[in-house]
Amino acid sequence: MNLKILYNNESGVKNFMKSWGFSCLVETDKNNVLFDTGWDGNVLLHNMELFDVKPENIQNLVLSHQDWDHISGLNHILAGTDFPEVYVPKSFSENLKNEIKRYSNLFEVSNPVEICEGVYSTGELGNEKIEQSLILQTVKGVVVLTGCAHPGLENIIKTAKRFGKIYGVVGGLHDLQSIDFLEEIPFLMPCHCTRHKNDIKTAFPDSYHECGNISFNELR
Ligand SMILES: [Zn+2]
Ligand SMILES: [Zn+2]
Repeated sequence: MNLKILYNNESGVKNFMKSWGFSCLVETDKNNVLFDTGWDGNVLLHNMELFDVKPENIQNLVLSHQDWDHISGLNHILAGTDFPEVYVPKSFSENLKNEIKRYSNLFEVSNPVEICEGVYSTGELGNEKIEQSLILQTVKGVVVLTGCAHPGLENIIKTAKRFGKIYGVVGGLHDLQSIDFLEEIPFLMPCHCTRHKNDIKTAFPDSYHECGNISFNELR
């Protein structure tokens, strides 16, 4: 399973267009799952081209939560796809859901659900800002992929643990009350809005990774 970071405000990759927001492609043996779409669709398309990712090859699209920096690139992608499956939290705006339905097969998620083989949604989590995260079953164990982690990473992990032992966390981690619980996770890749990135890097130098493309088959 490969993860390609397609939208982020930081990157070490030459010619990657940095912009506030997040998007990540999950490549399984069979499916391409796009998780979030950043803000600027042109930036997203540019970075997709950089990594040879084509909209027409995306079968499943998952939006984590309704923040502008995660959903706004959506219509640029839908324009190039062939009526994909789109998974949104059930609590999304009715008007937005109706718009998305014009271009896709829309699934409204409330409970944990399978997106495709090896890829699951946590279902809706959180109170103030409802968000879904992805649970990825890799050869290394469960990897959690978050948009902003507004419901709190600990809550997200609690749900993800039902799917197996947690190997890694990738994505925006927003505000963490405490980082102590990260100690038991061997692979940490904070991206996007993570506020305490340097603290995580200092506390867990062996498990910390800079946000970037990663293959979970090749990792030792
Ligand atoms: Zn957010
Ligand atoms: Zn965000």
